[in-house]
Amino acid sequence: MKSIALLKEKDDRNIVALSPANVKALAVNYTVMIESGAGLKAGFTDDEYAHHGGHIIENKEKLLANADILISYAAEIPVNSFTEANMVIGCYHVLDGLDDFSFYKKKLEFYSLDLLPRTTLAQSMDVLSSLASLAGYQAVIEGLNKVKKVAPMIAGAGGTLQPMHVLVLGVGVAGLQAIATAKRMGAVVSAFDVRKQTQLEVESLGAKFIEIEGAKEDQESGGYAIEQGEDFNQMVQDTIAKNCEHIDVIITTARIPGRKAPILINEAALKALKKDSIIIDLAASTGGNVIQQDISKHYALVSNSELFDQLAYSSSLLLGNNICNFLKHWEKQADKDEKDDILKGALVAKGGQIVHPRLIQN
Ligand code: NAD
Repeated sequence: MKSIALLKEKDDRNIVALSPANVKALAVNYTVMIESGAGLKAGFTDDEYAHHGGHIIENKEKLLANADILISYAAEIPVNSFTEANMVIGCYHVLDGLDDFSFYKKKLEFYSLDLLPRTTLAQSMDVLSSLASLAGYQAVIEGLNKVKKVAPMIAGAGGTLQPMHVLVLGVGVAGLQAIATAKRMGAVVSAFDVRKQTQLEVESLGAKFIEIEGAKEDQESGGYAIEQGEDFNQMVQDTIAKNCEHIDVIITTARIPGRKAPILINEAALKALKKDSIIIDLAASTGGNVIQQDISKHYALVSNSELFDQLAYSSSLLLGNNICNFLKHWEKQADKDEKDDILKGALVAKGGQIVHPRLIQN
């Protein structure tokens, strides 16, 4: 029977890559070892994992030395800690260079699920979507908690309170969830994205789309946005600055994989913001959508691309299911991984060599 090791994440993360329910399902075909304390910050105790068929291992060296498959979100894995038979499954944001994955130099198969194609076939494994959706939700909760106002219009004995205004920039998975959450709370929401198709999605959620003509799109980009020209970027920044003055909460999510995030909030926009408004920048890990200029302190800026980690229990349930679905797919396809789009898409390295075309290009 092959063995799986579930690793503890870095100290600053709360999530864990498998839930006790995932361990129960995997234990039918694998020996599942759990690094002691791996799930604690997400709300899963060692006892729960053990009850579901996991073997709790205190000693990390022993765990790494005995496992065939290492599973984590993006745990640190010392290069010299394991044998050549291992496979690593994680989400190391390899294009953005956010986590150290130098362990690939050992002769192992390394799959990073942030590289999966965003297709219907890969949907059940789509870690980026699972976590982005929760980050978008949490961005609204964080914004509402910080701003000293109610979200919906409330009429009462003391008069009528006007609804909060929320602006969402970048309408991918996180942005759509942010719009839906803010609308549910009763806020007035507007949004912008360079991908024209998002206009319909924004409007179908009852939000206003800010139209700016002239964006470049590439049908070959796998659904992702591409970098825009300087003139267009300037026009976007100017338009957003004009639309900022009545906004209470801005949620920015605009990203281009493997590139620096575009600046959407410039100095003029920051100056135009109302006193006590809040910006939640979910694109922070790749440079952020907000200009780095400390022009005033009348607004608050939260720069955090991992707000899903504050919802560690929920995030870990989704993450674990995505990873298990990937593993099931790998089991079925293992002999023909050269041809399978999902495995080929997520395979970073094999035999000590980086093999992913986008990493070789970079
Ligand atoms: P992402 O995190 O890469 O980017 C977030 C958003 O920022 C995107 O909507 C992008 O268009 C936008 N953006 C980039 N530059 C911008 C700029 N200068 N101004 C304004 N907005 C800008 O995106 P994501 O959420 O990972 O989604 C990427 C794509 O994958 C989308 O097309 C999405 O619909 C698609 N997707 C498909 C599936 C599926 O079919 N199974 C699942 C999930 C996502």
